[in-house]
Amino acid sequence: MGISKDVVKRALATVPGASEGSTLASGDHVLWVSACDSYASVRLQWRPGAPAAELEKVADAARLAVAKAAAGIDTPLDSFIVDFVDHAGTIVKQCKYGGMNPPPAKPAAAAPAGGGHEPIPGLKPSPNPQGKAQALPGVKQIIAVGAGKGGVGKSTVALNLAVGLARQGHAVGLLDADIYGPSMPTMLGLDGLDAIVREKQLEPFCTHGIKAMTMGKLVAPDQPLIWRGPMAHGAFKQLTEQTNWGQLDYLVIDLPPGTGDVALTMAQMMQLAGAVVVCTPQKVAQDDAVRAAKMFRQLGIEVLGVVENMSYFVGDDGKTYDIFGRGGAEMMAQRLGVPFLGAIPITMALRANSDEGNPTANFTGTDPAGRRLSQALEEVVRQAKNQVALAQMRSGAVKPTLSIS
Ligand code: ADP
Repeated sequence: MGISKDVVKRALATVPGASEGSTLASGDHVLWVSACDSYASVRLQWRPGAPAAELEKVADAARLAVAKAAAGIDTPLDSFIVDFVDHAGTIVKQCKYGGMNPPPAKPAAAAPAGGGHEPIPGLKPSPNPQGKAQALPGVKQIIAVGAGKGGVGKSTVALNLAVGLARQGHAVGLLDADIYGPSMPTMLGLDGLDAIVREKQLEPFCTHGIKAMTMGKLVAPDQPLIWRGPMAHGAFKQLTEQTNWGQLDYLVIDLPPGTGDVALTMAQMMQLAGAVVVCTPQKVAQDDAVRAAKMFRQLGIEVLGVVENMSYFVGDDGKTYDIFGRGGAEMMAQRLGVPFLGAIPITMALRANSDEGNPTANFTGTDPAGRRLSQALEEVVRQAKNQVALAQMRSGAVKPTLSIS
């Protein structure tokens, strides 16, 4: 029957909290619970400044309690993630447990989505393409944004992630590498502007607080973009290397949908912090997104998490409508054992702002729908930033720091 949120919450109620008589299930500790099949994750707050060993002990006690509760309903706990966050919601420690109960032997076809690393059609086998990849000079972190198929809002998420990071004071670049259907000229309002070449380098468009470059500005808008593999490879390499990015904290790359040549070129060329997978809640969209996530893993790129776009719609009557079945992408993230970065509602303003080339307006709406949208986008930005920081720590590139004030 699978583990439910209630099962997890009941289990947490058996684990002592930080203060006398409290439990982990009390509101002060548990912020978020997610559960599906044999997977569960929780987000907890604990004593500020508690040492890592104490947090690990708490996570361990939570794991034991949830595993026991899961066993009570004849379900193994295959994956359990505990995120400890501070008062600002920043993850300060993550404890991941996996493979605690080896799943019963199943024929390969019945394996859970996300398990295994079977080859992806059309992807040339290559032993970890990230192995030899270099850093891009002047760029601290590179985040790729991918999706299993077109139309799910991949470009929308990439753009708003870039603008959201810039609004927090970071130096951000956005590369529209969706060479088959570049949408950034419209979404950024670049109509009427031409790409400028200076000393054999492309000058990025500086707009909405970011530096952007798009294939859409290098070809005629009505020209059909049909690329063979080597051409796609060359175009991506040129766009990335010959743009004068300067110093960037983050470069966000909007990849073409699906799995293919551009992602492979990117993985071979540059060392990435990780990839964000965008998905709508429906089952059919999830299957494509799982394929995209597997591709990133196969390319040696860490999946930073999944964003559920078009998650729900709030009508003028104030009622929430789960048009596509809200929560599907969150479950998919659970199955893949990757973080869920947040849900973005279907919003008229988001579509209109994109068509008008004004992404800044997505963060400044003052009516209820506008505030809902900006909060959802800011949450995605915050979670993605957290996951980049955690990925850096895991790779050993950055050591954790503790500041005491
Ligand atoms: P993709 O890059 O996956 O092909 P886009 O980001 O171009 O998808 O989005 C496709 C269309 O859907 C665009 O017109 C965009 O404005 C619209 N759109 C995307 N996400 C939302 C949303 N949450 N609410 C309303 N419209 C959206």
